[in-house]
Order: sequence, then structure tokens, then C-alpha cells
Amino acid sequence: MRTRLTSSLSENLIIIKNFWKQFNAKLKSVHMPMTQPWIKYGITLYEHGQYYYFCGVVSNQCYPLDFELLHIPRGSFLQYTHTGSMDALTQTINTIWKQELPFSPYKTTDTSIRYLEVYKEGFSFQSSDSTIFIYVPIQEDENKDFLYLPAKTILAGSGAQAGKSYAHSWFGMDFNMNLYKGCCHGCVYCDSRSKCYQVADFDIVKGKQNALAILEMELRKKRKKGTIGIGAMSDTYNPFEKTQCLTKGALALIERYGYGVGIDTKSTLILRDIDILKRIAKQYPSIFKITITCAQDSLSKQIEPFAPVSSKRFETVKALREAGLFTGILLMPILPFINDTEENILTIVQKAHEAHANFIFVYGGFGLSLRDNQRDYYYHWLDQHYPGLRFTYEEHYHKCYSCNSPHSRRLYKLFVKECRKYGILYRMSDIIRAYKSAIPNEQLQLTL
Ligand code: SF4
Repeated sequence: MRTRLTSSLSENLIIIKNFWKQFNAKLKSVHMPMTQPWIKYGITLYEHGQYYYFCGVVSNQCYPLDFELLHIPRGSFLQYTHTGSMDALTQTINTIWKQELPFSPYKTTDTSIRYLEVYKEGFSFQSSDSTIFIYVPIQEDENKDFLYLPAKTILAGSGAQAGKSYAHSWFGMDFNMNLYKGCCHGCVYCDSRSKCYQVADFDIVKGKQNALAILEMELRKKRKKGTIGIGAMSDTYNPFEKTQCLTKGALALIERYGYGVGIDTKSTLILRDIDILKRIAKQYPSIFKITITCAQDSLSKQIEPFAPVSSKRFETVKALREAGLFTGILLMPILPFINDTEENILTIVQKAHEAHANFIFVYGGFGLSLRDNQRDYYYHWLDQHYPGLRFTYEEHYHKCYSCNSPHSRRLYKLFVKECRKYGILYRMSDIIRAYKSAIPNEQLQLTL
């Protein structure tokens, strides 16, 4: 049953006390059976600019006409206990809303239910040791289920190569690390889903336990400095990084111990760390790679559903360049018969030029790699979005690992021509040479 409240707390206390009497009398008159042990709810609700108070019970019986069915949404609540007479309840409610909640780390929800009073055994109307439980709905903690997995090491690689030839290395990385396991960007082609990497529940991001403590120990012990690659197996700027801050913490250590960094990401969150990235790049060669596979946002949304769309990634490249950071684009993979068009490649190079990208890199021609369960995942997606295309794939590639576009050669020629036209680097050796030779404190500053 509901009644209207006013804006005066003292008036409301009288309204509520009288309404409980009315409600209890009604319960008796309709012989409403209740759960045992008994439990009753007082619910304050705000609807269309008006506060209401509900008296309620849980019952599976058909309810009388002047009753209503109120659904309390599942969610998280803060629980408080009021001890004392019911007359003092207003004071407790006041304390909760004016003194407790404004300084707590929790945010109340904007749903209509403001709070619930729960009356059960232990409640006695005027007794000084009577208890009433108060529940305030709060916003869900999106990280409450975030998992950490045990880790023994973080940094891979010896750094022995540092200062020597980088001719055959991946962007000249001396060390590599992944602070997270799994990735939730949902890219349909993701190779990290392959069985051989043994990442269970790949789409659920897990953190590595004590990652920063382990990393610090490893960085301190290394005899040679070098550039540390982050994000090869999992995007280190996943949405959980906003609150877990493993990447941010690792960057602080990288800065403290004098290393460089090479980051692969699709996320705009990298811009949060731009200041520390600038300081790191001044002390040791560093490189930033933003993966962009499609010029059109609509297509990127389809094939990389939970990553920022391509236009946001181009903006990220531009912002990193404006900060003087050596930044380019990883143009991979290219999905045969989907984004292997001249228009896609030409537009990406054009937009890279507009964003002042230092380089665009394509690995092993225009195509993608497919194996075991990752192939199944990709084919399942093809069936849903491009019905019939899997048969073309099966016909062209059978069980091959490398699946290059039939237009790969022509597209690559065009790509090289366009990169040369704009002075964008595209060969691995040139890219490595360029960023490794950037003199500390003198990285390119752009006048845009
Ligand atoms: S961002 Fe990288 S690691 Fe994450 S799903 Fe996409 S391809 Fe895989």
C-alpha cells in the first residue's frame, strides 16, 4: 500500500506511523498470510517529482485491490542498522543521507526506490533496543567480479639484444610483458584465442596477481635497459585498466628504472597516460602502435565490437603525435573478401597522413592467420554476418594458417606507393631505426 509524503521530515514521521497502523489493520482484515519468520518492508520511493511511502509484505497470495505489487530490482545495497525507538528513525535516515553517503566511495542509484526499511524479529515499536535495517540501493561495482590469476614472472626476454641489431625483431622490443590475461574487445579474428596459448575464457579479462611487485623486482635485476613491449596477447588498455591501473603502475616503474616502452592498443585510454609516456620516451626509445583495420567505423564496430571505433583510434594517433610520441598504425589483419579493398587501404593511409602517423605496418601481406579453435570462432562469426562466405574461405585456404587476400600483391603495391607519397614509414627496419635513433629529449615536436 502506498501513501504520499511531504517535504517535511517531522510531518512524514507522523504520516508513516499512522500509515503503518492502517496497513497492519488491513493485513488482518484480508487475512493475508505472511512468510515465517515475519518480515515487513517500508519503502521510500520518488516518482514524477513526488515522494511516496510503501508499507509491504512478501506474499504469494492474490493481493487486495488497494494493494499494489512492487518489484524491488536485483542489485547492490548498503546496509545500515537503526537501533532505538521508531521515533528516532528520522534522525538515523538524516545521518545516512547527509553525513555517511556524501563521504562514502559508493554512489546511490538513480532508480525510483530511495531506501528500504526492513522490520523483522528484533523490532519493537518504542523499545530502546529495537532494530530496523535500512538498505540503500547503490550503483553496481563493475569490477566486483574482476579476477586475479597467480603469476610467477611478468617480464619476458633477456634484453641481451639491446643495442645490437634489431633486423629480425618485432619493432625492436628487448622485453615483453602482458599485465592482463584475456581481452574483452571481442575482435572476431583475434589470434590470442588460439588453443596453443592456453588462455581459458579468453574474453574475460583477468589481472596478474602482484604484477607490479614482481615487475619491480625484475626491472631492478636486469643488467641492460631496453624497450619493453606491452599488449601483444591482450590489450593492456582494456576497460578494467581504468580502475585496476596495472598498466599505469607498470609505466611508473618503467620510468623509475629508466626503460623504454612499446605499446600496442586499440584503446583511447592510452591518452590518460600521455604525460608519463612523454617522460619515458625522453629517457629511452619508445614506440606506440594503434591497430586500425578498417577506415569505416561501421565495419570496425562489426569486427572489433567492444573496442573504440576507427575514427577514435585515428584521433588517438593524432593526440599521441601532438605529444611528440613516435606513433603509427598496425594495419592488420586484413580480412579477405571483407576489408581487402583498395578504398579501405587508400583511406587508411590518407587518414594516417592526416593524423601525422610516423608509420603504418602490415605484416606478411594483406591477410589474416587462422588456426584450430580461433578458425571455428571466426567461421561462426562469418556464418552470422556474411552467410556463405565461409565456403569461399574453405575453398581458398583449406586448413592453411596464413590466409592472404587474393588481392594482396596489388593492394601492397598500392599501399607502398601511397606511404611513399606521404613520407610514411612502412618497412620494419626503417621504423625501428627511426624510433631507436630518436635522441632522448629531442623527440619530434610537431607544429600542427
Ligand atoms: S584487442 Fe587484440 S587481444 Fe584484444 S581481442 Fe582484439 S586482437 Fe585480441
